[in-house]
Amino acid sequence: MANMSLEKIKMPEQAPDIRNKNFEEVAMGYTAEMAMEEATRCLNCKHKPCISGCPVNVRIPEFITEVAKGDFLEAYRVITSTNALPAVCGRVCPQETQCEQKCVRAIKGEAVAIGRLERFVADWYMANVEEKKEMPAQNGKTVAVIGSGPSSLACAGDLAKQGYSVTMYEAFHQAGGVLVYGIPEFRLPKSIVQKEIDGLAELGVKIATNMVIGKVLSVDELMDDMGFDAVFIGTGAGLPSFMGIPGEALVGVYSANEYLTRINLMKAYISEYDTPIRNSKGVAVVGGGNVAMDAARCAKRLGAENVYIVYRRSEAEMPARLEEVHHAKEEGIEFNLLCNPVQVLDDGNGQACGLECLRMELGEPDASGRRRPVAVEGSNFVVDVDTVVMSIGTSPNPLIRSTTKGLETNRKGCFVVNEETNQTTREGIYAGGDAVTGAATVILAMGAGKTAAAAIDEYLQNK
Ligand SMILES: Cc1cc2nc3c(=O)[nH]c(=O)nc-3n(C[C@H](O)[C@H](O)[C@H](O)COP(=O)(O)OP(=O)(O)OC[C@H]3O[C@@H](n4cnc5c(N)ncnc54)[C@H](O)[C@@H]3O)c2cc1C
Repeated sequence: MANMSLEKIKMPEQAPDIRNKNFEEVAMGYTAEMAMEEATRCLNCKHKPCISGCPVNVRIPEFITEVAKGDFLEAYRVITSTNALPAVCGRVCPQETQCEQKCVRAIKGEAVAIGRLERFVADWYMANVEEKKEMPAQNGKTVAVIGSGPSSLACAGDLAKQGYSVTMYEAFHQAGGVLVYGIPEFRLPKSIVQKEIDGLAELGVKIATNMVIGKVLSVDELMDDMGFDAVFIGTGAGLPSFMGIPGEALVGVYSANEYLTRINLMKAYISEYDTPIRNSKGVAVVGGGNVAMDAARCAKRLGAENVYIVYRRSEAEMPARLEEVHHAKEEGIEFNLLCNPVQVLDDGNGQACGLECLRMELGEPDASGRRRPVAVEGSNFVVDVDTVVMSIGTSPNPLIRSTTKGLETNRKGCFVVNEETNQTTREGIYAGGDAVTGAATVILAMGAGKTAAAAIDEYLQNK
C-alpha cells in the first residue's frame, strides 16, 4: 500500500546562520530509513511519466521500488545503466522542471523526492561499495574529447566502456568543467566529482590538463598529426557577458565566472591557498539566475556583511531555481528587484565604491514572454558596495571555432550540429553540451555527450 502523505520527507540541512559562514554541504541527505519511507510514496504508475521528464531516461519507478525494498545496490545498477553521474544529478538537477514535474503525486501535493532518492542511492554506493572498474578490451580506435565538463565526462565514459582509447584535453589544471570551477562546494562537494573522474581513469581514459585546444594544439593537429579517429568538443559556454556600463573595468568588478573560479577551483576561501579575492564589506551580484545565487551565497560565506542581488525584473521572472532563491534569502542575501545598474562608481583610485542603479517598472511582454523592464526616469540610487559581480549570462568561447576550418556556428557562437547525432558540420567532429545549446543544464549536457558517443561509435564502426 503506497504511502499517501502529500509531502516529501524533509531532507536535513545546516541551519542558515551556521551554513552562511562555511562551505560545507547545505543539504545533508536522507538516511536509509528516510529514503525507504519516501520511496513508498511512489505509485509505480502504469505510464511512468517521470521517465519522459528525465533527459537521460533513468528508469525512475524501477530504482525507487528497489529503494523501498532496501536493495540499494540494485537501485544503483538501475540508475547507472543510463546515468553515469547520479551523485551529481541527485544534487544539482532541476528536478522540479523535469522528472518531478511529471510525477503524478505532484497533481495533489508534492512530487516523490526523485532527486533526493537518486542522491541517497549514489552516496550509499560511494560509502559502502568498493568496485574497481575493469578496463575494457581495446578496439584500436582513438577519440579526443575536448573539455571535461559533464558532456565530455558522459561521452568519454560511454566510449571507453566500448573499448575506444579516449584522451580528454582540459584547459584548466583540474578536470570537471563547471562541476569543479562553477558550482560551489556547499552545493556539490568536489570529492564527488573527483570520484567520477577517477572512475573514468580506471576505464582507461587519459586526462591531459593545462591543454588549451586551439592554442597548444589545434583540432586539425589532433586529427591529422596525432591520428585521432574522431573528436568530441564539449568546451561549454564560459565566456562572460558584461553590461557595457561605465566603471566595469574598475578593481572590484568581476564576472561571475572569474569570481566563482577563484573561490571554487582556486580555493580562495581556504587560508592555505594564496588565490587573491577582494575582502569585501558589500557585494552586489547583478543577475537573477542560478549562477548569480551561487556567487551571492559565496560572497556571504567569504564574510561580506551586505550581499545584494540586483535584478531588473521582479521575483516572478527570475530564472533561478526556487530552491536556490529560498536558500539565498534564508542565508541573508538581500534582493534588490526591479532595478538596473547604470554605472559602477570609482573611489578616485580605480576601485569600485558603489553601484548606481535606476528603478524599473514592468511593461509589455518581450520576445521571451516575460514583461519588459522599463526604466523610471530620475529614480537613480546607489547600492553601497565595494565589489560588483556581473552574472548576466555567458556564451561559448570563440577559440576553437576560430582555429578550426569548416565548423559552423550560429549567431550566438554555438556549434551547429545534427540533432540526432551531434555531428558538427565536419565529418568525424562532434559537439555537445553548452557549446551547442548555450548555457543550459548538467543533465542536458550529459545527454548530448551520450548521444555523441553513440554516433561516434556508429561512425567509427562503419569507417
Ligand atoms: C555557477 C554555475 C552553476 C550552475 N548550476 C547548475 C545547477 O545547479 N544545475 C544544473 O543542471 N546546471 C547548472 N549549471 C549549468 C551546468 O553546469 C552546465 O550546463 C554544464 O556544466 C555544461 O556542461 P559542458 O560539459 O557543456 O561544459 P562545462 O561544464 O562548461 O565544461 C567545459 C570544459 O571545457 C573546458 N574548455 C573550454 N575551452 C577549452 C579548450 N579550448 N580546450 C580545452 N578545454 C576547454 C573548460 O575549461 C571546461 O572545463 C551551472 C552553471 C554555472 C556556471
